[in-house]
Amino acid sequence: MRFDVTQRTEQFLNIVRGIDAVVMELRTPGEGEVRNRRMARRLQTLSQCLRALGAQLAADIAVQNDGHSRMRETLAASERQFRTLAENLPNYLARHATGAEIVYLNPRLEAIFGLGIDKVVGKAPSQLFPDGRFEGYESAILEVARTGEEGQLELRFTTQEGEPRIHHVQLVPERDETDVIVSVLVIGGDITERRRAEQDLKHALDFAEGVIAAIPDILFELDRDGRYLNVWTKNPELLAMPKEELLGKTLDEVLPAQQASAAMRSIGMADRQGVTVGETLMLDLPDGSRRWFEYSLAKKLGETPATDTFLILSRDVTERKRIEEVLAGREREFRTLVENSPDTIVRYDKELRRVYVNPISAALVEGGLAALIGKKPSECPGGPNALIYEEKLTEVFASGKAAEFELSWTEKDGAQCCHLIKLAPEFGVHGTVEHVLTVGRDISELQVSRQKIHQMAFYDPLTGLPNRTEFNERLVRITSEAGGQRKFASVMMIDMDRFKGINDTMGHAVGDQLLRDAAARLNLCVRSCDTVARFGGDEFAILLPDICDRAVLEDISVMILGKFDEPFYLNGREVYVSCSVGLALYPPDSVVADDLVKYADLAMYAAKRAGGRSFRFYSKELTVDATAYLLLESELRRAVERDELELHYQPKVLLDGNQVIGSEALLRWRRPGVGLVPPNQFIPLAEETGLIADLGKWVLREACLAAAEWNAGRTACHTVAVNLSARQFQFRDLVPMVGELLEETGCRPEWLELEITESLLLEEDDTILDTLSALKAMGLSIAIDDFGTGYSALSYLARFPIDTLKIDRSFVQKVTTDRRHAELVKAILSIARCLGQQVVAEGVETAEQADFLLANGCQVAQGFRYSKPLAKSDMATLPRLLELDAATEP
Ligand code: C2E
Ligand code: MG
Ligand code: MG
Repeated sequence: MRFDVTQRTEQFLNIVRGIDAVVMELRTPGEGEVRNRRMARRLQTLSQCLRALGAQLAADIAVQNDGHSRMRETLAASERQFRTLAENLPNYLARHATGAEIVYLNPRLEAIFGLGIDKVVGKAPSQLFPDGRFEGYESAILEVARTGEEGQLELRFTTQEGEPRIHHVQLVPERDETDVIVSVLVIGGDITERRRAEQDLKHALDFAEGVIAAIPDILFELDRDGRYLNVWTKNPELLAMPKEELLGKTLDEVLPAQQASAAMRSIGMADRQGVTVGETLMLDLPDGSRRWFEYSLAKKLGETPATDTFLILSRDVTERKRIEEVLAGREREFRTLVENSPDTIVRYDKELRRVYVNPISAALVEGGLAALIGKKPSECPGGPNALIYEEKLTEVFASGKAAEFELSWTEKDGAQCCHLIKLAPEFGVHGTVEHVLTVGRDISELQVSRQKIHQMAFYDPLTGLPNRTEFNERLVRITSEAGGQRKFASVMMIDMDRFKGINDTMGHAVGDQLLRDAAARLNLCVRSCDTVARFGGDEFAILLPDICDRAVLEDISVMILGKFDEPFYLNGREVYVSCSVGLALYPPDSVVADDLVKYADLAMYAAKRAGGRSFRFYSKELTVDATAYLLLESELRRAVERDELELHYQPKVLLDGNQVIGSEALLRWRRPGVGLVPPNQFIPLAEETGLIADLGKWVLREACLAAAEWNAGRTACHTVAVNLSARQFQFRDLVPMVGELLEETGCRPEWLELEITESLLLEEDDTILDTLSALKAMGLSIAIDDFGTGYSALSYLARFPIDTLKIDRSFVQKVTTDRRHAELVKAILSIARCLGQQVVAEGVETAEQADFLLANGCQVAQGFRYSKPLAKSDMATLPRLLELDAATEP
């Protein structure tokens, strides 16, 4: 074998280069395992080469002695080079004997062990570090020495500075030329940083994967040609096709042409700008659903522009889209509503300026929308109402509460307008009122009907005066306000003394006119601050506040009585109607509104009962009287049932011969504890309360029974006269009732005469005539009672079927003393004669009266001269011919 230094050196340097390459590789981060294994193999190769080189060198030395020294030099050089190499390695390098004793270690390892080479050579690591710090290291060496297999290990330990480190250690067995393992070469390096970087990278990747897994969006990676490179999604059903099919395809192969080109345009844009956001795309998915996606793109730079890719984040926004569409639809609907609303709709901002005005509002103002938008009410249209408007708007902005109010004004043409304005606050995201929306409705018509209703509810339609309700309200106001004042107030009740008669007889139209005239007269008597009200019927009330003195009230009362003394002109006729006035004073009589009215009423009734045409102040005794009156009413109601009524009969006599030809039935009430009560003490009450219906029927039945009894078996007939009150003619059943009673009692019609008053005949109404004609047709006779005291309209004598005139007692009693009365009676007698009517003189008390009457052609008389009214039994025993002498005169 030739000793060729140059060649050997070249071989050595090649090996060194090999080691350099390994070192380089160790320095670069890369796939740990594989690389390590690869490096181990190369190191082994290098070590074998080194060893072969060494053996060659030894052979060379043995064979060529002469080249020995040069060879040694070469070896020394090679050793130096190895050392230089080993000592400058950034990795550590060590050689261990097969028992793990250290043969060599480079400075890096010295630094790690913290021990110089001189201290460690020949010692195993466990001897050096009895704390077991490098335990795995030693056992790995022994393992490699034993098996001859390369090994590697990751060594974790803590440095002397207390820093945890990770080392990667590669172990290679070294063999001699006989292939016996002589040592183990260890090469290692600190991979702590790399591990940490790997760890960080792993964390980052985990995080990214977690994010992708967490978001519901789909993430695509596409290349510039629109080819799908990657897809991440939790919802594969949202893909246009299954993921496996999708990958590798381009957009135009997956999406419809239009969508594909839209997506391609977005890629182009992202390519230029880096990102694209907010694009939307509509897709029909394989499951048949149509869905909307919103996507954003980001360009991901590759190593070269050719390898750039695009990340597309696509979100299913179908639901949002649907809601948007619904909202848009709503918005359209509302807009149509608002724009076509007949109500005015305006939105105001915080400065009270209009930000929206609907067409109807715009049409109301000259200049329209342009004149209104951006303006405050006070700027357009201005005026006092605008200030009220602004005040209300300000209130709603401040309170955040809805409000409403009515705005009234007069149009140029004089029309009254009224709008109901509702104000609603509109809140912003922070809960503050950002706008106020006002909706105005034209309620002018409503207002008119409200006024009408108010008029109807609080005013009397006939006279236009306030009604009872309105009066009471004003009274309550006064009684609640006047507290503490020194002045009086008064309630005055006015009732017309003869209204009922006029209304019953002259008809309701005339009655209504009378009420209107009376109202006008009352208004003339009071001050402007007083209230004249009509309570109904002929009942008027006056509320007089601020009265300093009772005398004022007396003056007013006198004035009212005077005004009613003047005749009323009704239906071309003069009618006299007096009135009665009652007064109650606030506060002396009462402070309670209801009581004041009640007391004034009592006072009025007292005035009426005292004869009418007078006024009276309330006093406590009146309450007592009123109570008595109420008691009377309730007892009279029961009088019929309790059989307390009696009929007395006053005979009617022929003046010539004193023969009894009939009698008048006169009602009496035998009232327990009181005695016999005459009719004028309870008939008016019975008429007022309607009790007259029952009473009248009872009287008729009794009279019929008496007539039937007295006439039974007699040839000359005895006529019983019954008084009928005007009220009884208002009950429709009068005629049939009389018919039934005649039948029931067996009384013949010619035995019965009905006495009516003149006033009844003044009624223009035909029903009275019809009723009287019907009674007459039944065979009854009709008499006019108290003739001459009524309305003295003689025309009715011809019009109605009258059989008898009863000359009133007031005339008869004066015939002998007063020439004028005597003439009147004569005139009556001659009229009756002409009309073929019988005459009965009432209240004949003296022989002179009887003589006068007889001398002037009167045939029948009734009066105390012949008999007082008698009980039925007395009447039955009365002789037919009365024996009269001067002693019977009263
Ligand atoms: P009248 O129908 O004019 O009855 C005659 C009244 O004059 C009776 O009073 C009678 O007692 C009274 N009288 C008769 N002769 C004389 C006399 O010579 N001198 C005086 N000073 N008086 C005399 P009475 O019974 O108190 O009746 C009063 C009125 O009550 C009646 O007046 C009549 O209008 C009414 N009345 C009586 N009974 C009834 C009845 O059943 N129904 C109705 N509706 N009214 C009745
Ligand atoms: Mg009578
Ligand atoms: Mg009479």
